[in-house]
Amino acid sequence: MNETAIQIAYLVATALFIFSLKWMNDPQTARRGVLAGVAAMLLAVIGTLLNPEILTSNYKWIAIAVILGTVIGVPLSWVPLTAVPQRTALSHAFGGLAAGLVGVAKFYGSFQADGHHLSQFSVAALCMEVLLGFLTFTGSLMAAGKLQEVKFIPSRPVTYKGQNFINLSLLVIAVICCVLLVIDLQQFYYLFPVVIGLALLFGVLLIIPIGGADMPTVIALLNAYAGLAAVAMGFVMDNKLLITAGALDGSSGLILSIIMCKAMNRSFTNVLFGAFGQVQASTTQGEKKIVKSATPKDAAQLMENASLVVIVPGYGMAVAQAQHRVREIYDELTERGVSVKFAIHPVAGRMPGHMNVLLAEAEIPYEDLVEMEEINPDMPQCDVCLVIGANDVVNPAARHDKSSPIFGMPIIDADKAKTVLAIKRSMNPGFAGIENELYFADKTLMVFGDAKAVAGEIVKSLASEGDGGH
Ligand code: NDP
Repeated sequence: MNETAIQIAYLVATALFIFSLKWMNDPQTARRGVLAGVAAMLLAVIGTLLNPEILTSNYKWIAIAVILGTVIGVPLSWVPLTAVPQRTALSHAFGGLAAGLVGVAKFYGSFQADGHHLSQFSVAALCMEVLLGFLTFTGSLMAAGKLQEVKFIPSRPVTYKGQNFINLSLLVIAVICCVLLVIDLQQFYYLFPVVIGLALLFGVLLIIPIGGADMPTVIALLNAYAGLAAVAMGFVMDNKLLITAGALDGSSGLILSIIMCKAMNRSFTNVLFGAFGQVQASTTQGEKKIVKSATPKDAAQLMENASLVVIVPGYGMAVAQAQHRVREIYDELTERGVSVKFAIHPVAGRMPGHMNVLLAEAEIPYEDLVEMEEINPDMPQCDVCLVIGANDVVNPAARHDKSSPIFGMPIIDADKAKTVLAIKRSMNPGFAGIENELYFADKTLMVFGDAKAVAGEIVKSLASEGDGGH
């Protein structure tokens, strides 16, 4: 009876995990996707606790683990949206640590029980689990530290001569140890802790040469490693749910990092070994370029006289938490019959879906959030393009300047709009560290200031004109 109940729980959990990923693909069903994921996880835990081996063992330790997990997990859910990438990295660290510790327990547990009669397949899976689990643990901790700008972990890339060679050598040594363990466990069992040590060290060394701003991509990749560690754990424990859930986790992490690399026009090797963000491309100060600026009131007037306004949000909107003011601009304009669309670049902000989450929080209708490929053909018809705290994602240099670090990255064609309004605090560059020629264009008006404050001023102007002006 128990066994049937467990298998049904696992089957339903697997289906829910798959639906969860499918639903999370679309903002309209994303909430349902999250709930399905939570339900699947709960079923998986219940199914596991029903296991006869666990039922007859001591529940005390499990209860302690549940309390500890809750005490750590609940405050983790309170972090602000801008800190979600590092929070995600911490979750991966815990996932990696869990996989690693289960591997260690299994290895030494079976050693005590039957003097190491693990099959070669089990040893191979165990080695993979421990290697990936522990490197994910330290790698994710480093990634979280870099993003949080923790004092003793520099967020800039830390590089030295022969770094890639040293890192690769460590990995090769760890793999050789694993191979020896698989070949003859009795003889080489003492190499197991060496694999653990090398994995922990490799995780740290893999991440230090990568700049803080590249961390979201790396976190997606670490997600894939954690998933693979879970797959290996599934083989070791002979648990099919772990294998499928781990494979889903691993492949979605990999797909996400590929999407992010493509959207930034970078390769995996460039992200992992390129030390991006270290050498800031110096902006040439040749001829003096002219920048035109406007007041929030000018911006309001331009927009209320437009028929189509396209808003391009970016990292600055997230930092300023301006999404609610932006919603008010949207409301004021749509009330006047102006058509307002949001152009969403896949890597605007600092994590995938960053803009979607913020705009959904401000309850902007999903149908007005338009993906880059869909909005670009309409940009020549756009009367006013309002760029809010975005920079790289609207930099035309990506299209024509072969020397630019963002050359080849697909962008939102803000420069094709009739007029461009750009809200940012200064002429400072964005993530890629380069000047944006859009801001020097004839058709562009800069509205300097904090995105939330400027958007608030624009709303005020629109509201006062709406009351008395018409
Ligand atoms: P950028 O980083 O290019 O530019 C953001 C701009 O926002 C800055 O130029 C800054 O200018 C402005 N800003 C900052 N704070 C404020 C504020 N309080 N008020 C108003 N403006 C502000 O952002 P984009 O979104 O355009 O591009 C994202 C970049 O991040 C891309 O290069 C992408 O490749 C990269 N990236 C994205 C990831 C993702 O998953 N989304 C992951 C990793 C990297 P100023 O200081 O003058 O105000």
